[in-house]
Amino acid sequence: MLPRFAVIGAPIAHSLSPMIHKAFAHQTQRALTYETIEGHEQTFEQQVCDFFASGGKGLNCTAPFKLRAYAMADVVSEACKKAGAANTLWMQDSQLHADNTDGLGLVRDLARYIQIQEQRILILGSGGATRGIIHPLLHEKPKHITVANRSIKPLEQLHNDIPQINTQLLSSLTGTFDLIINATSAVFSKDNPVFSGQLIEQAAFCYDLAYGYKEPTSFVLHAKNLGCHAIDGFGMLVEQAAESFFLWHHIRPQTPCFTLYEMLL
Ligand code: NDP
Repeated sequence: MLPRFAVIGAPIAHSLSPMIHKAFAHQTQRALTYETIEGHEQTFEQQVCDFFASGGKGLNCTAPFKLRAYAMADVVSEACKKAGAANTLWMQDSQLHADNTDGLGLVRDLARYIQIQEQRILILGSGGATRGIIHPLLHEKPKHITVANRSIKPLEQLHNDIPQINTQLLSSLTGTFDLIINATSAVFSKDNPVFSGQLIEQAAFCYDLAYGYKEPTSFVLHAKNLGCHAIDGFGMLVEQAAESFFLWHHIRPQTPCFTLYEMLL
């Protein structure tokens, strides 16, 4: 039987992770399987245990399970501990290991476009992905990071865990920012446009962690309409996947060759 890998999340059907990991496997000449697993609110922990009990080698976790994946792990990396959220799991010496490759993935992709140092950063959303990206962004020495969220409780918890950041409620958000990162799982519409032009000066850079399939995401469209430079999170997806691949296979695949268009061909 081929070594088995997977990504678990809800919803998960449209995940591009299987395509990316299979492409990495092809590039590095490894035989493996990589599937999607629809996670269930009630039984997520059992699903993870079952996956490894049945011989699974490595598991990626995505929204909304990253905090629960972290809580399950016996051994966590420094990045994972700082984030309190995990996106990469594997078994070693009968212990569940966890790491978080989201932040590294984002910083690597952003570095293709902008310098993070001295930027005034706004992150929309305070879920597992936000937790994964804050410390790697802080490491790049931005001027400040503000996290805005719809509900207050996760925001307060985040501020408790990472006091270096500012926090605001999404509904009463103010300030001026150079880099705006959408890390919510919301699909935004014209009626619910995420952020207003008052939050930016000319040429702000906007990054959507979500990615579009054959068309830009609504966040990217909205940002471009406001005159910002904007890209979606496909580059980050590839970079965080490459880091997970490295953790599992100890070989780092080449990433710049990937575009979403090529993957969908
Ligand atoms: P979580 O479920 O942990 O968090 C979701 C966040 O979105 C919460 O802050 C939630 O706010 C907010 N939210 C949900 N619906 C709305 C809404 N209608 N209006 C405003 N805010 C809303 O998800 P993750 O943090 O794990 O993932 C967030 C997104 O980032 C997902 O789309 C995921 O696919 C993407 N992602 C992409 C990656 C990539 O490599 N490109 C890597 C990691 C994530 P509240 O607390 O109020 O519920």
